[in-house]
Amino acid sequence: MTTPAAPQPPASTPPTVACPTCGGPALFAPSNRWRPFCSERCKRIDLGAWAAEEFRVPSRESEADSAPDSQDA
Ligand SMILES: [Zn+2]
Repeated sequence: MTTPAAPQPPASTPPTVACPTCGGPALFAPSNRWRPFCSERCKRIDLGAWAAEEFRVPSRESEADSAPDSQDA
């Protein structure tokens, strides 16, 4: 009478993904509001990374403007 059903993962194991920032296990569940990041810190770091890069574009331009030493060969 015991028919082996489809193997199911233990309910005690929450689904986790690799945090894009630190690579650590990040809980991928509604309880983790920072998913797919493992924490608010990692999410801020990731957002800050591309935000800083956007700021770097005009910053580099003005930097090259005040540096006539950057002559292309
Ligand atoms: Zn992380």
